[in-house]
Amino acid sequence: MLTIGCHLSAAGGYLAMAKESVRIGANTFQFFTRNPRGGAAKDISEQDIAAFHDYCGEHSINVILAHAPYTLNAAAADPKVLEFCENTMRDDLRRMEYTPGNLYNFHPGSHVKQGTEKGIELISDMLNRVLTPDQTTTVLLETMAGKGSEVGRTFEELRAIIDRVELNGKLGVCLDTCHVSDAGYDIIGNPDGVLEEFDRIIGLDRLRAVHINDSMNPPGAHKDRHARIGEGHIGLDAIVNVINHPALRHLPFYLETPQEDNDGYAREIAVLREAYKE
Ligand code: FE
Ligand code: FE
Ligand code: ZN
Repeated sequence: MLTIGCHLSAAGGYLAMAKESVRIGANTFQFFTRNPRGGAAKDISEQDIAAFHDYCGEHSINVILAHAPYTLNAAAADPKVLEFCENTMRDDLRRMEYTPGNLYNFHPGSHVKQGTEKGIELISDMLNRVLTPDQTTTVLLETMAGKGSEVGRTFEELRAIIDRVELNGKLGVCLDTCHVSDAGYDIIGNPDGVLEEFDRIIGLDRLRAVHINDSMNPPGAHKDRHARIGEGHIGLDAIVNVINHPALRHLPFYLETPQEDNDGYAREIAVLREAYKE
């Protein structure tokens, strides 16, 4: 069974996201923990959480993925930006324990002219401050396209972050197909090679989720503009190979393609379910 979902608005709460997922043919979903630009998070309703857990049990929703706001920068030079990142991540991880055992994805950060080495150091320092031994959430570093001074454009950079984190048993990776293609990995022509490289450098056991997006730009463009499945440079065939790949097919897949409404996601989910080899 393919585990697939898309990015949903969290405005209606957890139960509403689960119900919307089922409506569009999904069995997982991704959501922002708060406004993508940061700011205060909505209060968690214990009632909503209880109803959500019942509903998930009935509808085989076994994993969900929370996405940190884009504005967090764990590699910032400004101490105020670092403090905001730390407070937000700590609060997000506290809130994640209402839905134990799930995934929290974040963009590692941008080193803003401090250099990749310094960026890696700052990101791992941040993780060493916010991870706790008793958390049940796995924190995922997302593979990045490498626009601007983004850290995490190579598997080596992600591995270097993981190596410096004390509680790295709490860490995993989320592979974004648009980002890795934009970063220059040949996910179109040589997915086996890319995943072998991932395994050699990071270890496939760290790979816990996949963002499936097409890309508006050719491989190596370092742009990060998502396209609908089959409407970009990656193409439907390569995406279908990704969801069926023996190293990936058991993972949860999340669409972050540009859509007018969730029915657009429903169409993509239907196409990919059809193409998934049971
Ligand atoms: Fe992301
Ligand atoms: Fe992504
Ligand atoms: Zn992206």
